[in-house]
Amino acid sequence: MAQQQNPSCDIDRFERETVQRATVGFPLTDGSRVEIPLTRIFGQCPQPRVVIVAGVHGDELVGPQALVELAQELPPNELRGTVVLVPRANPLAFAAGRRKAPDDNLDLNRIFPGKKGGTASERIAHVLTQQVTDGADLVIDLHSAGREGDLVPLSGFREARDDCARRSALAAAAFGLEYDWMMRWSPGTLSTWANQQGIPAVGCEVGGRAMAEREEIDLYKGGIHRCLRHLGLLDPPLEVTMPPKVWTQEYVTAPCGGLLEVLVTLGQEVEGGESLARVRDLWGTVCGEISAPRDGAILYTRVQQSVQAGENVFWLGRQEDNPCYEPA
Ligand SMILES: [Zn+2]
Repeated sequence: MAQQQNPSCDIDRFERETVQRATVGFPLTDGSRVEIPLTRIFGQCPQPRVVIVAGVHGDELVGPQALVELAQELPPNELRGTVVLVPRANPLAFAAGRRKAPDDNLDLNRIFPGKKGGTASERIAHVLTQQVTDGADLVIDLHSAGREGDLVPLSGFREARDDCARRSALAAAAFGLEYDWMMRWSPGTLSTWANQQGIPAVGCEVGGRAMAEREEIDLYKGGIHRCLRHLGLLDPPLEVTMPPKVWTQEYVTAPCGGLLEVLVTLGQEVEGGESLARVRDLWGTVCGEISAPRDGAILYTRVQQSVQAGENVFWLGRQEDNPCYEPA
């Protein structure tokens, strides 16, 4: 019984060149358990230890699929370090097929490090930080747009100027998705929490629509391989240069609810004032026009053709100077 309450008591017992499957979790009041499955791939030595998390939001499936495949494919005898793969960090949201767990409707990626004895989502956050990511040398957090949207491939770090941000930015550059991204400092996200512990963190976005297509899954797997090479866990070594510019985004929301007609495509460059979408009421009258507040590129687009006032329709991206970049 004691072991069941703390199934992770020997979670970090290193066994050279082995693959271990485990779960961490806790009981709910109805007698069921929250079980978070993870795979630990122990290589030739325990460090560095890279923890890769997906499924923090339950309707984002590219990351979970990539990690399930990597758990089968990463060769422990070629690895110099430990890789921990968590393909479904939020089992309650995953079971519901929703961003958030219906149990408490909290966004897991706003409440890290969670709370012992808190709500279900708070306890999930607590288990993940205390039993899985604590002491990592790098945390990678894989996301997608939810079922209502779609995203360009972004690999990024949290905005800061310290050494942890610099190492995070280099790891994000090694991940190497199409857009070098800088996430605004935002309390309660997994990457912010990691950075606050001095752990470098990479946050990524690929795809959405509650789907996982082969090329999207391969983008994530390729990025993870490059990160592991960058940190010396896999051969051949990967040299990375700091990008001088990074993308940031501003949110463009619907002015009214109704049926949405999107006039631009993902990745498209747009000019300030350009018409991006229109919303019609249920009599067919245009009740809102959405135009670009400035020049930029469409990083996220809503695909669900119904929308409520205030909901996100686009992320308008722009490039700005990378605060971690130092010219040679
Ligand atoms: Zn997400």
